[in-house]
Amino acid sequence: MKIGFVGLGNMGAPMAANLAKAGHAVTGFDVAGTTAPGVAQADSAVQAVQDADAVITMLPNGDILRRVAGDVIPAMAAGAVLIDCSTVDVESARAVAAQAEAAGLLSVDAPVSGGIGGAAGGTLTFMAGGSAAAFAKAEPLFDIMGQKAVHCGDAGAGQAAKICNNMILGVTMIATCEAFALADKLGLDRQKMFDVVSTSSGYSWSMNAYCPAPSVGPQSPADNDYQPGFAAELMLKDLGLSQQAAAAVDADTTMGAMAAELYRRFVEDEDGRGQDFSAMLPRLMARGHGQS
Ligand code: NAD
Repeated sequence: MKIGFVGLGNMGAPMAANLAKAGHAVTGFDVAGTTAPGVAQADSAVQAVQDADAVITMLPNGDILRRVAGDVIPAMAAGAVLIDCSTVDVESARAVAAQAEAAGLLSVDAPVSGGIGGAAGGTLTFMAGGSAAAFAKAEPLFDIMGQKAVHCGDAGAGQAAKICNNMILGVTMIATCEAFALADKLGLDRQKMFDVVSTSSGYSWSMNAYCPAPSVGPQSPADNDYQPGFAAELMLKDLGLSQQAAAAVDADTTMGAMAAELYRRFVEDEDGRGQDFSAMLPRLMARGHGQS
């Protein structure tokens, strides 16, 4: 396939490189001038998408996606598919899908989980929203960049799945960290705490696969001085998106709102920016600002 790729950042560059390595003709563009191995460089987003069978965007947020989509959609060939892999608000995803459809294009919102390691290793999970035809056209590319792609429903369904998943993740990580901090004060050994909870009803991905306590459970960012991993500011972004979506449809997400506020404080008022999101544990242990 001929592929245009817009947004060659931490995630986009390795994803584009994997498509090129698999034999596709990939042309990329990033305002920062970044490139990726095997990817031809274009001078603009419009140039990158010309004659492409598929266009992939991997951008920071919904406003930028809307701007880029406004530029590239009129330049895309009829019948081509626009695949947005960024994490953005559901409304922006739906607006871009409507614009693409009006222009005679296929489109999929397909945010990912798996982080930078998954992007480099081609092991991302894609959560996709769009028509069956659009998903079918994008699926071979998901197979190269990832290990699993779930077609979640119509336009916006991929973003909805992503922000619901990450709301659970943010809330369970905070609960897991609070429980470790409480266990410490109760004199409970952390390894014993892990042994019990990871095999009892308090288990979760945060505890079992990404334990926030150093030297306990599997290797995780906690064992590497809380270097991300998944940075606290990215968790804050996703919790903001889930709260924005909840407000738009009047859903009661009390715990999600509290998690968003706690990560906001951690990132904006304290020293959380640049730390893994599991660094909520040392934050809570430092009693004083842990009272929240
Ligand atoms: P990033 O900031 O490294 O990359 C975004 C890139 O977009 C940058 O290189 C930037 O220069 C480029 N860009 C901005 N405006 C542009 C424009 N108008 N035209 C062309 N390029 C433009 O971010 P990232 O970590 O690669 O994340 C990308 C998306 O993936 C985000 O929506 C993020 O929430 C999501 N995501 C990230 C991770 C992660 O672990 N990093 C995991 C899952 C999802």
